[in-house]
Amino acid sequence: MFLAVHTAGGILISQYVKQPIGLFVVSFLSHYLIDIIPHGDEGIDRWIKKKPSRLLLVEAIDISLIIVFISLFLHNNPQANTMLLLVAVFGAVLPDFLAEGYYQITTRSAPFYRLFFFIRKSNLILAPLYQHKALHHRIHKTFNIEISTYAGLLLQLVFLVAFGILSM
Ligand SMILES: [Zn+2]
Repeated sequence: MFLAVHTAGGILISQYVKQPIGLFVVSFLSHYLIDIIPHGDEGIDRWIKKKPSRLLLVEAIDISLIIVFISLFLHNNPQANTMLLLVAVFGAVLPDFLAEGYYQITTRSAPFYRLFFFIRKSNLILAPLYQHKALHHRIHKTFNIEISTYAGLLLQLVFLVAFGILSM
C-alpha cells in the first residue's frame, strides 16, 4: 500500500484520538488493518524489479501525495495540533520502515546495507525485525487474492480520497 494511504489513515485517526500514546498505537495498528485489503502491490513490485530506478518514480509520487494530503489537511484544519499529526503519521508508516529496515540490514545489494553494520551484529534487534517482517508479509497475504495493478491503484486512490473527505 502507498505510504500516502497509511498517512491519510493516521491523520483521520488523529481527528478522533487526541492522546499521543493512544494515537501512536491506533495509527500503528491501522497500518496492518489497511494492508489486509488486497491492493495490487505485487504488480507494482514486479514492474519495479524489471528496472529498479522505477522505485524512485513510485517514491516521488508517494511523497508528493503525502505532501499534498497534509497541505490540504492543514489548510482545512489550521488549528490542527502538528505534534499529534506527526505522531499519527509516524505510527501509520512505521511498519513499512521496519519491514524495509530488515531488508536493508540483511541484503548485501541493498543501498543502505553498509550503513547498518552495527545492527547486523545484534540479534536483539535483528530477530524481532525478522519476526515483524514475516508478520507484515503474512498480513498482506490474509486473503491471498492478487488484484490487477490498475484495480489496486484505483482502490488505493478511493481509500485516499475517502480518508481525505472523512478527515477534512
Ligand atoms: Zn505495510
